[in-house]
Amino acid sequence: MLSIETTSRLTELQRLEREYRQIPFEAILKQDVLRLGLAFEESSLKGASFKAKDYFIFTFDHVPLSEQDAGIRFKVPEEIRVEGGPFQLLPTVISVRVSPDSPYVVKGTPEGPALFLGEERIGSVGFPPVPAWYDRKTASGKLPGEVAPVIEWGYLIYLTAFRNCQYFGKDEECAYCDINHNYRQQKGEGRPYTGVKDVSDILEVLSWIAETDTNRIAKAYTITGGSVTTQLRGKGEVDFYLEYASAIESKFPGRWIGKIVTQAWEKEEVRKFKDAGIRIYHPNYEVWDPELFKKICPGKERTIGRDTWIRRILESTEVMGPENVIPNFVGGVELAKPYGFSTVDEAIQSTAEGLDFFMSHGVAPRFTTWCPEPFTTLSTLSDQTPPPLEYFCKLLTVWKETHEKYKLPVPPGYGDPGPGRAVFSVSAFMDIIGYEGRN
Ligand code: SF4
Repeated sequence: MLSIETTSRLTELQRLEREYRQIPFEAILKQDVLRLGLAFEESSLKGASFKAKDYFIFTFDHVPLSEQDAGIRFKVPEEIRVEGGPFQLLPTVISVRVSPDSPYVVKGTPEGPALFLGEERIGSVGFPPVPAWYDRKTASGKLPGEVAPVIEWGYLIYLTAFRNCQYFGKDEECAYCDINHNYRQQKGEGRPYTGVKDVSDILEVLSWIAETDTNRIAKAYTITGGSVTTQLRGKGEVDFYLEYASAIESKFPGRWIGKIVTQAWEKEEVRKFKDAGIRIYHPNYEVWDPELFKKICPGKERTIGRDTWIRRILESTEVMGPENVIPNFVGGVELAKPYGFSTVDEAIQSTAEGLDFFMSHGVAPRFTTWCPEPFTTLSTLSDQTPPPLEYFCKLLTVWKETHEKYKLPVPPGYGDPGPGRAVFSVSAFMDIIGYEGRN
């Protein structure tokens, strides 16, 4: 007999599967797991070899590290890949967000790990393989998973050069962001967690990847980190991040697709990165509504401002090409209490307006799934609940419709699109591209 909770979630999934036929069911399930997080039975991890969660920039967890059971803390995989089961799921890669109270639980079974919704088996689960270079240490004694972790099933090398942000405290930090809190938690748990990475460490790990990744599984790297509002190691933000881009592209020209995630810069500054060899620029706008931008991104509003931010996004297309400017927004944060919209439809209407604006200029924003992590400004202001699953179904639908309306290309730097192929793990926007719908 299924519990009431399991039955109602299954009923909801089945209802949405019937209602949203232009998006694959895999995307609907993925968004549900992302918004609610995952619990793990310790038995599911026993004896398996996999790449564990490296906490590459944020925690993306629903509970603090200190409150996680010792049997799973730092032991869960970076992502899971779920497939098969009663919904005949194609392989679907989903980022792991630890949530011990989630109805979605990875359990050990005689056939291997499997994803359960309560007592209902949803599909078999695979864990990401350990890259060949993960057993080495740099000359400075650092582990590769700390210096240059891979995510998205090995596709993306994630280089958080600066693990803090100089927007600090509730009057400056973006209200959903736990970068500074993540850093404190990692250090508090006694983990090696470098605040500012040395270029030499990064080049050393990249040289191992270049040497051992003969199948070229890693296809892209991202350089990112917190904003630099004053100076860091004697440099402003542009020069600080440019040093990493220049060093990587000088040593390994064109070996991977180089991406940079930072604030919105003037196009002359963006050109320096393009000239260095960076191919994709992510000046994340986070939330479209002007009033929400002010409240949710107070530091960015103070130093740059929304109008300038948007102007810079559009002008950077002259340097990078519109398809290579991919600003992120935080899907669902426009429903966060106390500032957010009170209904899903209002939230979607606002976000759809932003999507139409950018896509009409050839810029296809992507989104990540808002995770109400503890310690963030939003979580200290209010008890947060994840946005309803229907919000994500509507968001994916409007994203796909707008992308198709403007006949935009598949965003570069994310691998193959479509259900069963997408590896982008923190939202399902890549899983829906090219899907033809079902009857
Ligand atoms: S700019 Fe905002 S989102 Fe980016 S790291 Fe700083 S606080 Fe976080």
